Amino acid sequence: MSFTPRLQQLLSALRCLPGVGPKSAQRIAFHLLDKNRDGANVLVDALRGALDEVGLCQRCRMFAEDALCPICANPRRDSGLICVVETPADVIAVDESGVYQGLFFVLMGRLSPLDGIGPDELGVPLLEQQLQTGDFRELILATSATVEGEATAAYLASIAAAAGITATRIAHGVPMGGELEFVDSSTLSLALTARTAIEG
Ligand code: ZN
Repeated sequence: MSFTPRLQQLLSALRCLPGVGPKSAQRIAFHLLDKNRDGANVLVDALRGALDEVGLCQRCRMFAEDALCPICANPRRDSGLICVVETPADVIAVDESGVYQGLFFVLMGRLSPLDGIGPDELGVPLLEQQLQTGDFRELILATSATVEGEATAAYLASIAAAAGITATRIAHGVPMGGELEFVDSSTLSLALTARTAIEG
């Protein structure tokens, strides 16, 4: 192999990106080194800055640079509603649908006992604490329409019931097996509008 040690190191590092295999890694590395060293420097600074400064919101676990993310820190949001989603990308998708003005809670995954992902890994104790002490009137369960997503929603509905809070499940329009991130905003807004009560 004719790659230099540093180049080999760069190619290996690029493979951590989703969807990037050996060929793509080589294309990206050669492009940055040959055609766009300025862009590569900007990328290095942006990555370093994001790694140093971006953490998780103390309330909802969305990405944040302060204790609270911009949504939790916004006093105009409806603090009586909390929408549970699996990923930060889901927060963006629901927020961009424009029909939802409440708060969020990001699980960063879904229940998957075989993979060792239980309630603690999903931050459920933090959510439970908020449901017990906060002034919420509805918990909207917007986990994915997958087997694990449904199991997660059912589990969270039982926690909401124990806290005396109504739980609803987004329903129509989201395809079975569908990830919210890839659902178009009109379908998503219909799914949110047509949510149904879920037994805990
Ligand atoms: Zn937040």
